Amino acid sequence: MIITDTHTHLYSDAFKDDRNEMIQRALDANVSRFFIPAIDSTHTEAMFQLEADYPNLMFLMMGLHPTSVKANYQDELKHVEEMLAKRKFYAVGEIGIDLYWETSTLEIQKKAFKHQIQLAKRYKLPIVIHCREAFNDIFEVLETEKDDELFGIFHCFTGTLEQAHQAMSYNMKLGIGGVATFKNGKIDQFLNQIDLKHIVLETDSPYLAPKPYRGKRNESSYITKVLEKLSEIYGVSEEKIAEITTQNSKELFSI
Ligand SMILES: [Zn+2]
Repeated sequence: MIITDTHTHLYSDAFKDDRNEMIQRALDANVSRFFIPAIDSTHTEAMFQLEADYPNLMFLMMGLHPTSVKANYQDELKHVEEMLAKRKFYAVGEIGIDLYWETSTLEIQKKAFKHQIQLAKRYKLPIVIHCREAFNDIFEVLETEKDDELFGIFHCFTGTLEQAHQAMSYNMKLGIGGVATFKNGKIDQFLNQIDLKHIVLETDSPYLAPKPYRGKRNESSYITKVLEKLSEIYGVSEEKIAEITTQNSKELFSI
């Protein structure tokens, strides 16, 4: 069985004392493909180090996270552009809009999001979307950018069935993680109405740990709890779900 974690911040400081052991626990749990979202330029070196330390396991993304869209965002976007021009990345992410932490930056968040979607198209890469309390604004941007070249993942999808269909209409897969295991997470109520070909698995570690670790530091090995839950929701074996979602990730990231 091969499990793919399509969204994990393994370079995070949260793992500085036990990164090796933590990654080994994931490998022991059959999690052996890791897609690494960027945040901003302050993390780039750590991402490259991670890639060098674990050859052939780590697939890096490049992008500017919406909560890092601040006064210097144009310099940050330049960094993203320079990096994309310089070497291979597997997606532009994570990008999007976050109105939970900051609403005053909405306009520049939208600009940065749109600009990075266009970069992704230029490099024929998928986008990985971060959306927090911002479905309408995200959809508004996607509506202006939708075409055959737009595709990617709606990371940590937490919307309604209707919003899921709208996300899929823009060629987005739904990134499903710990929230599916939460009692009040809601998506477990309708996920079985969405074909597994639209689903990829993720942890978003060190954030959003699944039950029974909710509130603790998350790590990629805990993705097995998400797999367990999806197996229950769909009535399909864990092996089969791992196989389908890994295949989905291969088609999406072209690796
Ligand atoms: Zn993330």
